[in-house]
Amino acid sequence: MAEAYDPGNIFAKILRGEIPSHRVYEDEAVVAFMDVMPQGTGHTLVVPKAPSRNMLDADPATLGALFAVVQKVAVAVKKAFDADGLTLMQFNEPASGQTVYHLHVHVIPRFEGVPLKPHSGQMEKPEVLAEHAGKIRAALAG
Ligand code: AMP
Repeated sequence: MAEAYDPGNIFAKILRGEIPSHRVYEDEAVVAFMDVMPQGTGHTLVVPKAPSRNMLDADPATLGALFAVVQKVAVAVKKAFDADGLTLMQFNEPASGQTVYHLHVHVIPRFEGVPLKPHSGQMEKPEVLAEHAGKIRAALAG
């Protein structure tokens, strides 16, 4: 049986505003912010506000709202960085590589010939994340 949702996870804290994030998007159901250990330039996380551990225990209505925003953010991120493509990733349980147990989707711009950096690798400088967040917000605005 799947473990219970833990409201002490780091994304729940970000959603409650208890710890900072570089937000690029928010609506009534979904938030998007920069991954602090990006696997590529512009790596963004799209996170539903409703609590679930991952895809396995999520309400289907949550998935609908989440993926509508994933598409919106994906289009904006591709535009913001003039990317050649995008990789979406979503992990479920430790065996898959999940490290934060609140459902989220990774949106990662891709460039021809540039491999992804390791998952949960190096911390990016806050000023770089802030600059990238600004570009994505501008792309989302128009
Ligand atoms: P996973 O649960 O394996 O799909 O990935 C969790 C992701 O969250 C990793 O890519 C981490 O780099 C990222 N991450 C961890 N802590 C934070 C944080 N405080 N703010 C933004 N991203 C984070």
